[in-house]
Amino acid sequence: MNIKEIYSTNVFNDKVMRERLPAKVYASLQKTIESGSPLNSDVANAVALAMKDWALEKGATHFTHWFQPMTGITAEKHDSFITPDSGGGVILEFSGKSLVQGEPDASSFPSGGLRATFEARGYTAWDPTSYAFIKDGSLCIPTAFCSYAGDVLDKKTPLLRSMQAVEREAKRIMRLFGQDASRVNVTCGAEQEYFLIDKSVWLKRTDLMTCGRTLFGARPPKGQEMNDHYFGVIKPRVASFMKELDEELWKVGVPAKTKHNETAPAQHELAPVFTSANVASDHNQIIMEFMKSIASKHNLACLLHEKPFKGVSGSGKHINWSLSANGKNLLEPGDTPSANAQFLLFLTAVLRAVDRHSDLLRVSVAGAGNDLRLGGFEAPPPIISVYLGEELSEILDTVDKGTSYLGKEKKRLEPGVDVLPRFPKDNSDRNRTSPFAFTGNKFEFRMLGSSFSASEPNIMINTIVADSLKSFADELENSKNFKEDLSALIRKTITNHKRIIFNGNNYSADWVAEATKRGLLNINSSVEAFESFILEKNVNLFELHGVFTRSEVYSRYEILLENYYKTLHIEALTMQDMARGQIMPSVFSYLNELTKIAKNKKDLSLDSKVEVKLIGKLSALNEKLDFALERLTKLTETAESIKDNSLKSAKFYHAEIVPAMNELRSYADELEILTAKKYLSFPTYIDLLFSVR
Ligand code: ADP
Ligand code: MG
Repeated sequence: MNIKEIYSTNVFNDKVMRERLPAKVYASLQKTIESGSPLNSDVANAVALAMKDWALEKGATHFTHWFQPMTGITAEKHDSFITPDSGGGVILEFSGKSLVQGEPDASSFPSGGLRATFEARGYTAWDPTSYAFIKDGSLCIPTAFCSYAGDVLDKKTPLLRSMQAVEREAKRIMRLFGQDASRVNVTCGAEQEYFLIDKSVWLKRTDLMTCGRTLFGARPPKGQEMNDHYFGVIKPRVASFMKELDEELWKVGVPAKTKHNETAPAQHELAPVFTSANVASDHNQIIMEFMKSIASKHNLACLLHEKPFKGVSGSGKHINWSLSANGKNLLEPGDTPSANAQFLLFLTAVLRAVDRHSDLLRVSVAGAGNDLRLGGFEAPPPIISVYLGEELSEILDTVDKGTSYLGKEKKRLEPGVDVLPRFPKDNSDRNRTSPFAFTGNKFEFRMLGSSFSASEPNIMINTIVADSLKSFADELENSKNFKEDLSALIRKTITNHKRIIFNGNNYSADWVAEATKRGLLNINSSVEAFESFILEKNVNLFELHGVFTRSEVYSRYEILLENYYKTLHIEALTMQDMARGQIMPSVFSYLNELTKIAKNKKDLSLDSKVEVKLIGKLSALNEKLDFALERLTKLTETAESIKDNSLKSAKFYHAEIVPAMNELRSYADELEILTAKKYLSFPTYIDLLFSVR
């Protein structure tokens, strides 16, 4: 296989456009891509024509506007290119209008009250900054999705808006340093963790099929304690899955780069090469989709849930984030003092952003699934802090205190941004426990759950960093003495926000106490996080930077709450089904056998102490299970009766249903251990975690 030959073969990318579009059309499309200027209909028609011809040559029969509604996954509705002609045949058509705008029936997508069901219309609009591609015989056109009234209903539109906001403010800062950047882009690389299990065992687990995670399952005798899976040799079946995945991703232009086994048994990771944030987010959606579909072809099931198994590490998604001006990384520490000053300003902009708005970062990683993972010694705690590494922290410390910095070379350096030393580039001692770590020339946000869209945290990071940059630019643009004021601003920002820096072990109990002392937020539950989304300061922030309107913030808040409690509702019902329909009957059958044995033994005057003891244990646990099941059933009914108040529902699920689910599970898991394997009605953790050979 020749990677060069297959790479991007199914993408209508710049190279294809250059080859196939008339020079004038190409130039005006480039202008649209670069500056966001509107596309006129002649250009759109010409692009559509070239796209259609290209797609037909590649064997495509349909086209679809590919978008990202608030479900967190992608949506597509396929139309074929055919239009019947008068002679009983067909012509193949695709107009500029069909390319630029679509009008899917939007009534069944979550809108959080933004659109009444009777006003079903929603619009999809082409995002020319993300290339069209062919998937399963359909030409997929990445699009934004909004309501008839223009309110956003998706994850792409606000991402693009937030990228614009940060670009606008970053350019102002660049100008202060005498640089006119024509383009400031947000770059993102999203590492994706996932589990692969055998499809045949997956099919026997209702919980995995309906919820994506196990709701029952006793701790297996072997988990990840031997650390023998991390970076281990990849098993042949998994390797052949990964090979096909890479190839299919390369064909649609997703630069899949790194693959390896992760911490938990059956857990793996894929990381692509970073690119523009909106493209990276589209790519991440494609990666997740292909993982599922290709796994299925290999008789595997891919689990993207953030906590599929209790007691073994869950899966995260790491968002690597930076800014680039005309292709140059703005978080790359420079070699010259002035470059260092600019770097420091951007770095402190991020510190200020994270410190002032850690609640919003927390919102972007909140969800029922991630509640099971954050703070579980496998993922960062819910307390948000920034890791900078010892040396960089020391440098900031000297700026803060106005003392001199004794660099590695033992050269005494006076304080002030124009005499800062070269920054450490070594990022080898990266702190894996930090939620938000500076890793040499980018930040890595590690709190995201594996199933999340990469857009959400990007929207938050972009908006809050745009806010810092705006405040810096507002202050410095009026400066009479730039150098001095810049030094003062950097120093002031470090002084005000250094509490957010933490280089120690984020998993330790000491840190919780220390963070409380520092006044950092520790938002433990998702519901509490959601509530902070609509704080007035946050609504104002989004409005100020043109990322969300007030009603858009509220609609998203509503959707987050709905997603949260609906997820738990499905889980609670699935647990009841499994407990009633599978676990109890298994125990009954086993009890039946045990009592028969005990009775037979008694008839023969043999001792049956062991059997009787086990019967007693099983019966007592079964009674507890029954009690917990009744309780969960009643609570679920009560939850269902809460109408039209999502916050109340979400709170009820968090406070009442989750503990009741945990209790039910604890008895079921004990019963699993005591029940003979042949009576168990679904595969155990051992079957699930070690079945792929
Ligand atoms: P690790 O697992 O050690 O964190 P990986 O190599 O798995 O590192 O992933 C690092 C990710 O960061 C990759 O997706 C990479 O492309 C991305 N990345 C590197 N530089 C940047 C940058 N300037 N902006 C955004 N992402 C970046
Ligand atoms: Mg990482």
